[in-house]
Amino acid sequence: MMTTRITIALSKGRIFKETLPLLAHAGIVPVDDPETSRKLILDTNDDNVKLVIIRASDVPTYVQYGAADIGVAGKDVLMEHGGEGLYEPLDLKIAQCRLMTAGPVNAPEPQGRLRIATKFVNCARRYYAEQGQQVEIIKLYGSMELAPIVGLADRIVDLVDTGNTLKANGLEPMEHIADISSRLVINKASMKMNHDVMQKFIDKIAEAVSK
Ligand code: AMP
Repeated sequence: MMTTRITIALSKGRIFKETLPLLAHAGIVPVDDPETSRKLILDTNDDNVKLVIIRASDVPTYVQYGAADIGVAGKDVLMEHGGEGLYEPLDLKIAQCRLMTAGPVNAPEPQGRLRIATKFVNCARRYYAEQGQQVEIIKLYGSMELAPIVGLADRIVDLVDTGNTLKANGLEPMEHIADISSRLVINKASMKMNHDVMQKFIDKIAEAVSK
């Protein structure tokens, strides 16, 4: 019988750490630690399962094009990507936070068109369009909290967990856009071609999530 080779795309840090116990429940244990190894492809105890360690925002792209069969990505990253070519069967309930708008504490309502700094440009554009609000979106790659302080933007759209980062920079959370957590995503073609293997994997991970 032919065995199915599976590649799983993960990002380093929080998602990797919190996904490990779920993978272990499915019998998959990586041989190397990505925090200490420079390898981008990690072997596991199962010869047929490899992990690729990539940027969080690249996970949907790898899975969409079938470079990885399976991935773990934040809902924020998936919303920004659009989810094309991806099957999203499971909420892993890890790395939970909220996507929110935020602005300076006690700031007067800005006049005219709001300027929004964010790395989540698609999410922000969609959100403000739904609100019927005309805004100008400014794309940043990090440290969004700085933008209102230096007058680059009136508001930001960012992930909020404890709210400490906003507070430390004189900002406060304003509108709630979405609840965020990491999701399991599967390449649509892999799901069709290797249905039994994928379904078994999903079931095992679902069992670990609900434990
Ligand atoms: P906090 O200060 O606890 O509100 O955390 C906010 C900072 O941590 C922001 O810079 C976020 O980008 C980042 N952050 C919080 N939760 C997550 C998450 N689940 N995934 C990725 N980044 C997060």
